[in-house]
Amino acid sequence: MSGGKLTLAVVPLTGCGGCEVQVLRTFEKYPELYEKYDVVYWPLVVEAEEMPESVDVVLVEGSVRTKKDVDVLRKARKAARYLITLGSCAGFGGINGQADYFPIEENMKSIYGKEKLENSVDMLERLYAPSDVVPVDYVVPRCPPTPEVLYKVLTAVYEGKRPPATLYSVCTQCPREMREIKQEITEEFFKKGLPGPDVDPKTCLLSQGYLCMGSVTIVGCGAPCTRAGIPCFGCGGPTAEIAVRRDQDIPVALARIIATLAGMDPIEGGEKVLKILEKVYGMRRFYTFTLESEVFRRKPRGFAIRLLAENRRAQQG
Ligand code: SF4
Ligand code: SF4
Ligand code: SF4
Repeated sequence: MSGGKLTLAVVPLTGCGGCEVQVLRTFEKYPELYEKYDVVYWPLVVEAEEMPESVDVVLVEGSVRTKKDVDVLRKARKAARYLITLGSCAGFGGINGQADYFPIEENMKSIYGKEKLENSVDMLERLYAPSDVVPVDYVVPRCPPTPEVLYKVLTAVYEGKRPPATLYSVCTQCPREMREIKQEITEEFFKKGLPGPDVDPKTCLLSQGYLCMGSVTIVGCGAPCTRAGIPCFGCGGPTAEIAVRRDQDIPVALARIIATLAGMDPIEGGEKVLKILEKVYGMRRFYTFTLESEVFRRKPRGFAIRLLAENRRAQQG
């Protein structure tokens, strides 16, 4: 502590900068945080070339994509009394992990027009979530986290309390009503693409056959997508229960919920629904924000995620 304040560093790895912007917005919206924190390192806003050797709280944005990310993250861990990851990228690899579905050369070519750049950064063979590389004290979900949640976390840490945790899903903030599914669950039940004008505005999109991931996604965004008639695609990251329990997994939990809505046994019926979901949407669809997270690779469906990565490496030769 310095003068009653905690020291704070914000460390960017490979991300879009959106989570850092949310930290800026948090300080703007809740200026009392300036009474609680001294920002000692933050390349985006503070002129300090090196991170101090000891920092009370380090916020990490982004996933681990380069060798430099590994070094920066290890240094941050060593310095931090309390290391907090921000957003889906830092929590579970995030949307960045989707790039690993394709050979690196193919990604480079599609973006830069050539397979390798001179002076390009030293890429790792695959992407990792920070928690796969160093111990993490707290994960703040979402893509990106909201100022309200960041404020609660920073205030709790300052007061020496555990940051808030929740078991709820996006469904608890969604105004749509889950209804019994009265038809047999077949491939034809599930719809692809976005709901059209024929969609019932009051009924749950999942109950209507759209792949809404709200029931397996952590609460906190206020369900803006489903309110606007767009199915949740899970950007907040999985619910705490799914993330923490080894026997839980995203498509498995979703299949069980659909089976229950259709009056089937959640376990046996869930297995049947799971097979259909995988056939209609493909496994990758369920791991849009968690594809390269070791937490998910160790789960029952993890073999399928590993298979995706192995296929990619095979394509790379
Ligand atoms: S979690 Fe979302 S907002 Fe944050 S760095 Fe990743 S892509 Fe950007
Ligand atoms: S599944 Fe989607 S549409 Fe249905 S209640 Fe949950 S968030 Fe709303
Ligand atoms: S509803 Fe789903 S996709 Fe939309 S912001 Fe919330 S978590 Fe993200």
